[in-house]
Amino acid sequence: MSTTLVNPATGREFLEVPAATEADADAAIARAHDAFPAWRDVAPGERARLLRAFAAIVGQHNEELARLEVENSGHTIGNARWEAGNVRDVLTYYSAAPERLVGKQIPVPGGVDVTFHEPLGVVGVIVPWNFPMPIAGWGFAPALAAGNTVVLKPAEITPLTAIRIGELALEAGLPPGVFTVVPGKGSVVGQRFVTHPDVHKVVFTGSTEVGKQIMAGCAEQVKHVTLELGGKSANIVFADADVAGAATAAPGAVFDNAGQDCCARSRILVQRSVYDEFVGRLETAVRDWRTMDPSDEQSQMGPMVSAGQQASVQRYLDGVTIAFQGGTPDGDGYWLPATVVESTDAREPVWREEVFGPVVAVMAFEDEDEAIALANDSDYGLSGSIFTHDLGRALRVSRGVQTGNLSVNSHSSVRYWTPFGGYKMSGLGRELGPDAPYAFTEEKNVFIAT
Ligand code: NAP
Ligand code: MG
Repeated sequence: MSTTLVNPATGREFLEVPAATEADADAAIARAHDAFPAWRDVAPGERARLLRAFAAIVGQHNEELARLEVENSGHTIGNARWEAGNVRDVLTYYSAAPERLVGKQIPVPGGVDVTFHEPLGVVGVIVPWNFPMPIAGWGFAPALAAGNTVVLKPAEITPLTAIRIGELALEAGLPPGVFTVVPGKGSVVGQRFVTHPDVHKVVFTGSTEVGKQIMAGCAEQVKHVTLELGGKSANIVFADADVAGAATAAPGAVFDNAGQDCCARSRILVQRSVYDEFVGRLETAVRDWRTMDPSDEQSQMGPMVSAGQQASVQRYLDGVTIAFQGGTPDGDGYWLPATVVESTDAREPVWREEVFGPVVAVMAFEDEDEAIALANDSDYGLSGSIFTHDLGRALRVSRGVQTGNLSVNSHSSVRYWTPFGGYKMSGLGRELGPDAPYAFTEEKNVFIAT
């Protein structure tokens, strides 16, 4: 079996890659299972050293990895360099974990009580096509640091960077079987991670629909599972904010990666007294947004990842009145322009559903209570932003919005130092931050009578 890869900027096929069968997946899981006891028992300082070597070699291949992502996924070259750098940084951050995976000593009568954090065994990581490198790293780096072995399935259409990172792990000196990339179909390889009894945790990032199936499948074996799913995040702009700054920053918060971002601020809520000013400034910013060949250093936005994703986003645009749009290059490839829609009805699909493309809906609100109610009127709760100069309001709204990651007067949401994950249908569990390695362990309690 094989998969034909297509360059999304040109629509041209450029490579055949092998796609694993169920037997191939079983063989990879068996190797990971066999490699586990020795990896678990590597001294903490030595495991740390190997992860730092892995980080360094990923860093040395930054440009090569970035170029692969531009060709395979249509990411802008600037973004792709950042994404490869994120893998290096996340590995470096978690390379400190093996030597700091501390338990507790708990006061009890009659003896001494201590806890240990023990690795789970084989961890299966299932990655979507929208951020092939960072999302892979957020799973495999803390899992390896905690002493697990990892099998990783990239999205079928975007496997190249993961395959290369798997090779770099071996070059860095990780023992064979400790980290294995298994390219193939979700319904074959991904499904096998769920059903195989020797995979002890599944880390899934992708759609809510598939996430529910993964969770149900894991229930059969009471298997650990982390879900990072969709989003429909709100960017809330109050009248007291730097309205010009908020309008200038808004396109980047939704059109980055062509809107194929689970954290995209795809709903903009603007206080009515500054609504017209905000929309006017947004129009200028959107018309200046540079959608062009992603390998061009000036490019801010490339194409949709596939013809299927382009068609799926286009269906939302066919039913709505477009307020204004940016441009697209001529020629082949899966292009869509940055698009703004003004919404007055919170029942509209473009307001409620995760479009996962370069489309943003803008709506006016009257006051703080209405802003929070509108933001929370969603099945999702992943991310969001609040623009205001009133500190009390910033804190009240931050506590009121039901979402896992908020930023005030900025759009930063995924930072590897801090926990990341969703409320409601956006997911289950947290990734990143200082505690992530613990999510790849069982906590064991031992009481010693004295
Ligand atoms: P998807 O269809 O859910 O696929 C995600 C991954 O799961 C892919 O590797 C896919 O393999 C695999 N998969 C599909 N069916 C499976 C099954 N039955 N069992 C096991 N694995 C299976 O999502 P997508 O279309 O790649 O990505 C878009 C969606 O992901 C959006 O909704 C987006 O919001 C969400 N997302 C969320 C986050 C987050 O952090 N919360 C991040 C990125 C994306 P194939 O490649 O073979 O289909
Ligand atoms: Mg899919």
